[in-house]
Amino acid sequence: MENLLRIFTVPEAPGSTLSRLENDISANLAGFLQEHIVAEETDLVEIERDFSDTLIPERPVYVSEQTEFLLDKVVAQSVHTASPSFVGHMTSALPYFMIPLSKIMIALNQNLVKTETSKAFTPLERQVLGMLHRLVYDEPESFYSQWLHDAHRHLGAFCSGGTVANITALWAARNRAFGPDGDFPGIMKAGMFAAMRHYGCEGTAVLVSERGHYSLAKAADVLGIGRDQIVAVETDGHNRIRPDALESTIRRLRRSNIRPFALVGVAGTTETGNIDPLDSLADIAAKERMHFHVDGAWGGPTLFSETYRKRLKGIERADSVTIDAHKQLYVPMGVGLVLFRDPAALKSIEHHAQYIIREGSKDLGSATLEGSRPGMAMLVHSALKIIGRRGYALLIDNGIGLARRFADRIEALDDFELVSDPELNIFTYRWLPPAARDALRDADPERCRQINEVLNRITRYIQKTQREHGKAFVSRTRLTPERYDRQLITVFRVVLANPLTTDEVLRDVIEEQREIAASMQDHEDIQRLNQLTRCPAA
Ligand SMILES: *Cc1c(COP(=O)(O)O)cnc(C)c1O
Repeated sequence: MENLLRIFTVPEAPGSTLSRLENDISANLAGFLQEHIVAEETDLVEIERDFSDTLIPERPVYVSEQTEFLLDKVVAQSVHTASPSFVGHMTSALPYFMIPLSKIMIALNQNLVKTETSKAFTPLERQVLGMLHRLVYDEPESFYSQWLHDAHRHLGAFCSGGTVANITALWAARNRAFGPDGDFPGIMKAGMFAAMRHYGCEGTAVLVSERGHYSLAKAADVLGIGRDQIVAVETDGHNRIRPDALESTIRRLRRSNIRPFALVGVAGTTETGNIDPLDSLADIAAKERMHFHVDGAWGGPTLFSETYRKRLKGIERADSVTIDAHKQLYVPMGVGLVLFRDPAALKSIEHHAQYIIREGSKDLGSATLEGSRPGMAMLVHSALKIIGRRGYALLIDNGIGLARRFADRIEALDDFELVSDPELNIFTYRWLPPAARDALRDADPERCRQINEVLNRITRYIQKTQREHGKAFVSRTRLTPERYDRQLITVFRVVLANPLTTDEVLRDVIEEQREIAASMQDHEDIQRLNQLTRCPAA
């Protein structure tokens, strides 16, 4: 027991493996990562062998031993998400101050569920919600001085990420749409079945474009709405919801006595970075009396940019807005938030208990899906203050500018095709050699379909090979562009949020993809492509 107590009381001895490691990390994090994250790809199945033992060790191992294990087997096989050439996902570099500040946050081990375990962290979290609420809704000072710290109101809720933020938004929307009415105690108490019976409908639905994030389907499942009731509305050639298709979908649902209670607009689709026409959606939501939620998990911080914030026009009319802090606010993984225009909106999900989150207390746990929750607000607060509005504006403008230049460059090349044009800092493209491009223009629809199928396999091969080489990473997804009659097309997807990514880095990405394509000359897919494109008449 005495030895065991030491791990809670005695600080790490100077000179130990762990403290040496800590020094290395503090002194030169980039160097440390470079040294420890190996580039070449090891098969996941092989890595699983190091993690196959399910016995908890009876006798303790030394901290130094475990540290060595982690360095060797985990750190070395982790992904270098901060690398300027890792441009495939939404997870990128962190500002240096996040590492020491995270350590303080962990050391304090606050629990935001109630003020008894968080004290100053609670007003701090509310302040951050107020700051971001103001970024979106820009209410007058009097609004914020009235509601920011009010025990009975919430400007939003912190959570673990965009998924839980979207669930929270739809949860509140559902409970308000099917709330208490006469004898009916509300869906919160009576459940979905009784709610449908009381309100006289056969089902309910949430409307979103076909580019909506899969977290909405999870939300629909959890909330008892049903995954099929996330009704995907057709998009236009720019991956934005078509208001006319939306209106006819609403009519169709109403004819079958299905009552849609929420409309979700996307501000920065995950695959293509496009923004729905939020103003038109706000009009339709108002007319149809639906809750209007904007999923700005990715694109929300675009509001910092004086140049680009107009692209999100209409977001200020949303009833709720999701923003992920661990994406474009550059905070470590594990924090997102949802904001509500009406500070009373979260009352619809409030839950109180006796020993905790008492009625009238300022405990944040009463209005969040999660119970115990870390003090991540401290990191968001720090980022907002240290980076500031201007800093974020620069970061946003830089990413969008970089995407624009890269997309223009791709458009000018005769062996690549831009598939979705960047509206923000995300876009898609693919390798398309001149012969295939000509054939796709001239050949009959059936042959075009065959060519695209082969190209899909080649795109996949290039993407996987590039990832395995370990120098650069782009992701891939599948889209249904109008230009190819909505056939499924596999594309490379780039997300440009790392401020250290440069035009040169991107030039190298393309160059490597071109080399991989060239190295495939004997590959059956290339031969098949040559066959299909050589004589379009055959
Ligand atoms: C990332 C993302 C989400 C989900 O957020 P998580 O933080 O991964 O849970 C939801 N919607 C959009 C548009 C996103 O980009």
